[in-house]
Amino acid sequence: MSQGTLFIVSAPSGAGKTSLVRELIESLDGIQVSVSHTTRAKREGEVDGVNYHFIDVAEFEAMIARGEFFEYANVFDNYYGTSRKAVEVLLAAGQDVILEIDWQGAQQVREQMPDAVSIFILPPSREELERRLASRGTDEHAVIARRMRDAISEMSHYHEYDYLVVNDDFTTALQELQSLVISRRLSRPVMCERHAPLLAALLSQAPTVE
Ligand code: 5GP
Repeated sequence: MSQGTLFIVSAPSGAGKTSLVRELIESLDGIQVSVSHTTRAKREGEVDGVNYHFIDVAEFEAMIARGEFFEYANVFDNYYGTSRKAVEVLLAAGQDVILEIDWQGAQQVREQMPDAVSIFILPPSREELERRLASRGTDEHAVIARRMRDAISEMSHYHEYDYLVVNDDFTTALQELQSLVISRRLSRPVMCERHAPLLAALLSQAPTVE
């Protein structure tokens, strides 16, 4: 069984990352999203074990001490991290795995796994980003301004990523993400591993017919 590929997907809040990733994994076989651990409070509609594994700070810090995280970071005053074991099991089973993580986690993953493919999703304009951030629950100016500052800080790391996708039209952005996954699957190193018997048979000098 050949090893799956690790994809890192980052974006500022308001870029549409979660919806795009959800559609991406529904539209392709053999790809899954890693469920992160977090200490932030569960939001309405979120399900433990589906959106995140919700744990408390003491539990998170115990996992850090035991070296159980592949990467972790403090994002907006909460811990978020990816379980090393969960990702390794999926990759070893030949699944492609998406990590929806911030720029700090992306840096840690690249250091450990230079072959990981990293993708940054951008909103189509400053105005549209502001509009999307403003429509999230509260109209309080200070809250929106803080979200905008956080978004700009995340976006300032775009140049560390292999690919950039602009989420203007959802269907187009989804197709672009699908193309990135498919082109990686067709890359020579991945194909050589997956089709080793085919390549050996095709290149064999032994006659198959007399
Ligand atoms: P939210 O709380 O809105 O779900 O996520 C906030 C931020 O945390 C997002 O930028 C998201 O990418 C990031 N994040 C979610 N899970 C992880 C993780 O496991 N590791 C890291 N480093 N960041 C994460």
